[in-house]
Amino acid sequence: MADHRAERITNLVSPLRVEPGTRVRLPDDFDPGYRAGISKKKDGVALLRRGTELLADYQRRLAAQDTYGVLVCLQALDAGGKDGTIRHVMSGINPQGVRVVGFKVPSEEELDHDYLWRYARHLPRRGEIGIFNRSHYEEVLVVRVHPENLKRQKLPDAARRPDVWERRYREINDWERYLTDNGFKIVKLFLNLSKEEQRVRFLKRIDVPERNWKFSPADVRERARWDDYQRAFSQMLSATSTPWAPWYVIPADHKWFARLCAAAVLADTLIDIDPQYPHVSDRTRQELAEVKRELERQAPEGALADPYAASAAGSTEQDPKAKKSEKGKKGKKGQRGEK
Ligand code: ATP
Ligand code: MG
Repeated sequence: MADHRAERITNLVSPLRVEPGTRVRLPDDFDPGYRAGISKKKDGVALLRRGTELLADYQRRLAAQDTYGVLVCLQALDAGGKDGTIRHVMSGINPQGVRVVGFKVPSEEELDHDYLWRYARHLPRRGEIGIFNRSHYEEVLVVRVHPENLKRQKLPDAARRPDVWERRYREINDWERYLTDNGFKIVKLFLNLSKEEQRVRFLKRIDVPERNWKFSPADVRERARWDDYQRAFSQMLSATSTPWAPWYVIPADHKWFARLCAAAVLADTLIDIDPQYPHVSDRTRQELAEVKRELERQAPEGALADPYAASAAGSTEQDPKAKKSEKGKKGKKGQRGEK
């Protein structure tokens, strides 16, 4: 990878990182309208297109190496743009290498387990990129803002004392450290939307009939708790941005910029992992050469011995040794080879 590209990506993501150990206060510390000096949307969109090509390349290597996995945790308030971010950032990536899981209100079965159980069940495999659309962080966000959620979790008394949030931060940090130490990198993105932009997006969901399904009156009830959420997010960002799994606050008022930043943070992580295609031993290389010769011998008359090698070498000429093709001699055949 060209160094200047890596450097550009690092420069874009650095201001978004919550430095571990620092105290975050929303909404003052991060501007949802920030655009890193990229004034034109079309420039941002072009950069994102290049970014997704880069991601596709790294994802292929990640899958081939089969050693590391990546978990992307997406958190946002309603209308923050989680779905669109997933759609755009992952466009061009082989769907077989990506696993997206959304987390909603927990089921009875999930409530019958410890609070991290349902998230652990959906972790990515090695070689995969997993995306949590909402994540274990709901356990210190919605559960904190609406304490009735904590009541439903059937915890023993000792586990619901007022220090429950501090304890959960510690447990989450420990869990993420364990995952990181074992080859699973965690990318944590908070899409930071302004209150006014949320209002505008809600109105659009009401005004455009095709978007009505995306809107729920419950979203307005949550909006009424805006300040409580800002406090819960601030405390969560301060307590769980760690050296092994830092938080990135993504300015989300401009969707195109949020998508570009999300792609950049993921790219930065993959560049750091630097996954490599597996090394092929000399012996395997010899075996491949033998199989190659055999496959070349099997070329039908008129066909190039190795069409791929020929086109890679820039040659489109027919093999001069090749005789007239069977097809040419016998005339056009049907799909199944009948005359
Ligand atoms: P959209 O942006 O399309 O509305 P969404 O992620 O908001 O997507 P919804 O089905 O609207 O999906 O909402 C899921 C709801 O589940 C959210 O209100 C969220 O707060 C809630 N939720 C997620 N995890 C938990 C949890 N652990 N306890 C209680 N509620 C939770
Ligand atoms: Mg919703």
